[in-house]
Amino acid sequence: MNVDTCRAWMLRFSELIDAEADRLTALDAAIGDGDHGVNMRRGMRAAVAALGESPPETPGRVLVATGRALVAKTGGAAGPLYGTGFRRAGKALTDTEAASAAEVGAALVAMLAGIQELGQAVEGDKTMVDALAPAVSAFEASAGDGLSAAAQAAAKAAADGAVATVPLQARKGRASYLGERSIGHEDPGAASTALLLRALAEVTAES
Ligand code: ADP
Ligand code: MG
Repeated sequence: MNVDTCRAWMLRFSELIDAEADRLTALDAAIGDGDHGVNMRRGMRAAVAALGESPPETPGRVLVATGRALVAKTGGAAGPLYGTGFRRAGKALTDTEAASAAEVGAALVAMLAGIQELGQAVEGDKTMVDALAPAVSAFEASAGDGLSAAAQAAAKAAADGAVATVPLQARKGRASYLGERSIGHEDPGAASTALLLRALAEVTAES
């Protein structure tokens, strides 16, 4: 992954967030406060603007700049969580100019670790971790087949992980205040994480 692919990943993520903002907000209206789509759209638009104003020179710096914009501009719980995750992922890539599939896998591991350290959620708590953790495992299992194959596997695992949050009861975040009433709805943060991995699969797809 070079800097152009990484920037394309963030631009595509922002496009998918724009396209799905209403769905993300509707999911959050069911078990939260109905702002996840709006939060993520504001944050990713700010990230894309920052990447345009002073284009970073390495993929790691693209992710760090995205994380910084998300922390500054995205409200709610998701902003600091994603922001920390992107910054950790970017730092894990150091200043490499072309990250291998294994290096991208290590960056995703760092993203997950950052999100879990900050949010203290484990798999099954009905959060973004339920999409990201299986995606990271799937990516690492396929990294030997190259970036594109690993990203496709991760995207599928994240999408499946998001859907699998429907029957769970939330144990972290705002949705946990609902107790059993959080059961039966997809977690909005898991849904947005599935878009992040889908964007990666799309920009790395071999034509
Ligand atoms: P808020 O809940 O503050 O309104 P958002 O609506 O933007 O923030 O984001 C909600 C999402 O954040 C949830 O769907 C969940 O995936 C994620 N989330 C909340 N708390 C945590 C946590 N402690 N760890 C991981 N993810 C969390
Ligand atoms: Mg919310």
